[in-house]
Amino acid sequence: MKVFKEQQMQLSQHRELRVLRQQIFDNLGYRYTASRTLGHVRQVMVVVPFSKANFRGLFLQQVSLPVCQELLEEKPLENCFGGRAITVPAENMGEVDAILGDNWDVRTFDTNTVCRVVRAEGLRISWGYKKREMFSHRDCPRCNWAEDSGDARPEVCSPAVSYMVGEPELHFTFTRRRGHWVTGLM
Ligand SMILES: [Zn+2]
Repeated sequence: MKVFKEQQMQLSQHRELRVLRQQIFDNLGYRYTASRTLGHVRQVMVVVPFSKANFRGLFLQQVSLPVCQELLEEKPLENCFGGRAITVPAENMGEVDAILGDNWDVRTFDTNTVCRVVRAEGLRISWGYKKREMFSHRDCPRCNWAEDSGDARPEVCSPAVSYMVGEPELHFTFTRRRGHWVTGLM
């Protein structure tokens, strides 16, 4: 490889946005192809720690969708996973560019391969405190069943559940595609 010129990319002042961009960049690698029928297209979800203040100030305030306005007015703001996720259509991708900075959606390589976010597919953004569950079978009747007890073994487990709620996180889902360099790309 012969490098023509080397320079550092300018990134956002926001630490959480820098981490998000770093994760997106890493997920725009192309070692594997998920599906033969779709070619080199794959949906990817990036998960990063993200504060409520930054989610509100960056995504809810800067993306002009009705759902963002509704969530801004919600006090307190509840988890926005699943059915409450924000679907950003292709028309609003310019607003995401303004948040994440130039070229957040493209990764180029030392060959002429280019991996990029499929902008026409839009994005899904969700946020909240994820509940992580642990299941203990220590006192589970099925797992503690003894053959000589005379009782029938329960069909299903009944474990005790404990859960962990950690740091708030942002889930950023996009579709990526591999292609080739075209003149004027960056
Ligand atoms: Zn069990």
